[in-house]
Amino acid sequence: MSVKLALSFAKSHAVSGGLAVLLKCSGEDKPSGLAEVDPADVYDRAAGIAKFTGKSMAVLDILAPHGSPADRILVLGLGKAEALSGHDWLKAGGAAAAQLKRADTVTIFLDVPGTEVSPKAVADFALGMILRSYKFDRYKTDKKVDEDDKKDAKTVKVTIVTAEASAAKKAFADAQAVAEGVVIARDLVNEPANVLGPVEFAAKAKELEKLGVEIEILTEKEMKKLGMGALLGVSQGSVRPPRLVVMQWKGGKAKEKPVAFIGKGVVFDTGGISIKPAGGMEDMKGDMGGAAAVTGLMHVLAARKAKVNAIGIIGLVENMPDGNAQRPGDIVTSMSGQTIEVINTDAEGRLVLCDALWYCNDRFEPAFMIDLATLTGAILVALGNLHAGLFSNDDALSEKLLAAGLSTNERLWRMPLGKDYDKMIDSKFADMKNTGGRHAGSITAAQFLKRFVKDTPWAHLDIAGTAMGSPSDEINQSWGSGYGVRLLDELVRANYEA
Ligand code: MN
Ligand code: ZN
Repeated sequence: MSVKLALSFAKSHAVSGGLAVLLKCSGEDKPSGLAEVDPADVYDRAAGIAKFTGKSMAVLDILAPHGSPADRILVLGLGKAEALSGHDWLKAGGAAAAQLKRADTVTIFLDVPGTEVSPKAVADFALGMILRSYKFDRYKTDKKVDEDDKKDAKTVKVTIVTAEASAAKKAFADAQAVAEGVVIARDLVNEPANVLGPVEFAAKAKELEKLGVEIEILTEKEMKKLGMGALLGVSQGSVRPPRLVVMQWKGGKAKEKPVAFIGKGVVFDTGGISIKPAGGMEDMKGDMGGAAAVTGLMHVLAARKAKVNAIGIIGLVENMPDGNAQRPGDIVTSMSGQTIEVINTDAEGRLVLCDALWYCNDRFEPAFMIDLATLTGAILVALGNLHAGLFSNDDALSEKLLAAGLSTNERLWRMPLGKDYDKMIDSKFADMKNTGGRHAGSITAAQFLKRFVKDTPWAHLDIAGTAMGSPSDEINQSWGSGYGVRLLDELVRANYEA
């Protein structure tokens, strides 16, 4: 069952029934809000028996004592107060949301003795709650799968009690925009490919018009005219036509150069004629995770009215084997004029991105370009599900990205580029080939993209390991994680807003 949270913020709040959530750092201090809900000093005994000291993410669950206005008291450990980071508040919110069970009303006392809880921390806590509560269950028709869940969707009333309630409410407006953006990205990745083709994805992106984002949708005919032979070569085996969506958010000064985000949107990747093995192929419905993140990000920027000019471009295609599909050995001409020998039709993401990058650079002359793509299995071999690979021609941009990764916990690890790697994609018959072989597969993919960005500061994020199938954690239980939305929103927020 999906849980909807109706969140509100209050300076003080008289608890009447339901769940009371208290927070406690490790150390001598009592939990937040204890006096409000524990008239009989039950907490001390319960904590003693359970050996609860407030260690990070430890939980103490108490049936409320006689005389308490609450039904249940949950104390959540935060660990050492001095070690609390921004991301810890998201995690704490997620951990609290995981404990709601059948509660209808929840009161959360967020002012923790012994530490300062900023409005931003409160907003992050609420964001963590929302992200944790996300569930993709629209195709589950049997509502009685879980006997506890009889209703279709449930709304839980959550009151967050904090001294700076009005400042927290303001900070939460931004957090809510972020939550919506992550949910959009997760939904897009989780959605099956029979429902979400290039045309349907483009229609989803078009919904951002409501927030003031300008949307253009290029059709096959228009892309042909532009000479996007690399992108079109990928899509020619599918009966579903490709789309290129251009999103523009103009929140900055009129003459300010835009920042640009480009996403790989292969709605399904069979591998094409170089077909993939059957095992796990269903996961390839998520091969549009980059495009999903860009769409979610553009939602966030518009919803919180970010003071920045931002471009989002997503290349949407399906990679299918067919009588009309492209073959290994085919040579295609990209929009840049450079020719590409297709060695392996499963290395299709770079063929989509190279035309999208070139188009973006050519038309918008952006301050930088960042592309996101579930590009290579090799990045999983190198980094697993825990870091995305970062490849860049610009140290300053890389530093900013790495910092945003640390603060959002959407982590990045910088990988090398260089002339010797670049040589690995030289082709016998064309300007380049689309694979450099098994070794350094993520790097040669990045080298390929680098040939389409000229001198524009550029970063490529290989999110094949992080966009989907990451291990569940406090704020994400979903297969599609929405990775990249919070990361890039933080990058913009910290560096590019006037
Ligand atoms: Mn592929
Ligand atoms: Zn792919």
